[in-house]
Amino acid sequence: MKNFLTKIFCIFAFILCFAGSVLAADLNISSVTFDNSQTFLSLNSFDNTPYNFSEMPKLYIVQDENKAYFDINSAVLSCPPQDLVVNSKGISEILVKQFSSEPNIVRVVIKYSEDFNPSNIQLKRVANTFLVRFKTTQAKNFYFQHVYADSTSSVNEVYEDLKLQIPVLAGQTMANQINSAFKLGSTTEDKNYILSKKDLILPTMFYLDDITVRNGKILISGAGTYLLSKPVYLSNPSRVVYDIPNAVLNSALRNREFYISENETIKAGQFDKRTVRLVITTQDKNKFIPVYSADNQRFAFVNSTAFSSPYQTPKSVMTTLYDEINGTATHSVKIIFSKPIEYSIIREPKSLDLYFHNAEKSQDINLSFSTILSGAKFTALKNGGTKLSIPLLESDTIDVHTGIDAKSMRVRISSAVTQLPVSAIAKPDNKEIEKPEKPDHKGKIYVVIDPGHGGSDCGALRGSIQEKNITLDVSKRVEKLLTQKGYEVFMTRTGDETVSLQERVDISENIQPDIFVSIHVNSSNSATPKGLETHYYKDNSLALAKTVHASLLNHVNASDRGLFKSKFYVINHTTAPAILVEIGFISNDTERSQLVTESRKQATAKAIAEGINDYFKKK
Ligand code: ZN
Repeated sequence: MKNFLTKIFCIFAFILCFAGSVLAADLNISSVTFDNSQTFLSLNSFDNTPYNFSEMPKLYIVQDENKAYFDINSAVLSCPPQDLVVNSKGISEILVKQFSSEPNIVRVVIKYSEDFNPSNIQLKRVANTFLVRFKTTQAKNFYFQHVYADSTSSVNEVYEDLKLQIPVLAGQTMANQINSAFKLGSTTEDKNYILSKKDLILPTMFYLDDITVRNGKILISGAGTYLLSKPVYLSNPSRVVYDIPNAVLNSALRNREFYISENETIKAGQFDKRTVRLVITTQDKNKFIPVYSADNQRFAFVNSTAFSSPYQTPKSVMTTLYDEINGTATHSVKIIFSKPIEYSIIREPKSLDLYFHNAEKSQDINLSFSTILSGAKFTALKNGGTKLSIPLLESDTIDVHTGIDAKSMRVRISSAVTQLPVSAIAKPDNKEIEKPEKPDHKGKIYVVIDPGHGGSDCGALRGSIQEKNITLDVSKRVEKLLTQKGYEVFMTRTGDETVSLQERVDISENIQPDIFVSIHVNSSNSATPKGLETHYYKDNSLALAKTVHASLLNHVNASDRGLFKSKFYVINHTTAPAILVEIGFISNDTERSQLVTESRKQATAKAIAEGINDYFKKK
């Protein structure tokens, strides 16, 4: 969430601002945002110390010059002074300056067009944020920002739930505070205008400010909301062209050519008033892929064959994925992550390839429940990331939106025909992880038991009942039973610890066990599903899956949901025969109450242990 702060409130202040040493009495303004609802300018302070001031700044109107200004006393701009050229009906420019030091005064100048009535400007303060409201336009419904489009479309399409992080009064949302500050919804004029969270965050223009080429990577930085169109390929010389609609280029960069290598260059131009065009001259049109940063303010072109991130984004986990709309011509897939993502979007004629460079997939994600994703595939990337490949028809058009906080993505697929493609792609990915040789265990059978989730990752939960506790409890019972039978048992966690999926795989790969068994509790949006599932992915795991599943059905009084071939991370990346058992649904009231009982847990553990034993007896 910390990133989110930076992102929203430094939208126009692309340089990260760190508070300088300022007298405690001063308000430290560290970012200035012209909200993309085109309704608010906000001067933000990340300082939580209440700023005490005696009176609200007064707005002065300079009629002849079509401008208005106000001064904030005892305030310091910790960012460089801002000159915002804004894209709002009636408002043309906003200047934010340190007007004087000692006394510290920040001056905000608003320039407007002749037909704009300056009495529309309202000035309020909410906590340590100054808000200027321009009653020019009304916000629409926005949740996400548009980052990729197959065809030219309006960039002003955003949908994201706003999660404001600036200091808010206890028990109040930011929207409520703004509503009450401006008395929205209470005056006659604004009777029907009540801000909801979503009205506060909206698309802006993209101000492309810098191009840096280093080690064959091209970093494009700016501020605002960007959308990269599907590239166009030109020949003689061979070029790749990307357009960024609704964007302005720093004039110092216009038509400057940057050398990537001896024969490769990138050039930026202001194609028209609202479009920035990037032209990469290269013999290999697939060589450079755009990688979007998690702060949504930068992107980079990197060499697709030797991908290495230009950013330092914390690891994220793809936790949820679902089909949002099941219309006949439009499908929408929403993907949710634990942390902001760094990603690439590659539109191939027959597929959409989404590269999540810093995110791995939670093993709870099962593509088989989705129509549009029935032919989709996950592939682990060498750098620890995940690729999701969604089969498409060539005539389908794609729009990709990401949440303003970069923790969610929405892929909208509009089909020219109603029939959706199934399993269109099957070519192996050469980025899959290579497996080492299996060592000798001197007659002993090694088993890795993987209790699902743990630590900060609770898994599925209902009330106080958490998946991570059930899986650990059952796993420990399995460990005990197998040890009694003479097996060498290793656990991927023995307590309430956070262990990533890759760490679980690494633990197993170091041990090189004979089998790997991951234990999970299932969950559904519906309260109906209940019962047992056993998942395997590789063919070498089918026999183990069958035996353990049969044993589960034998010992546990629960319904049979069957065997599944599922590409869960841990059973796909481990060398040993690997299965993942879902020992019941936490989302089903009856089954949940059973899952926490001594008898169900013991029966489940016994079933798994005996299933494992049966498997080795058969061998
Ligand atoms: Zn789970």
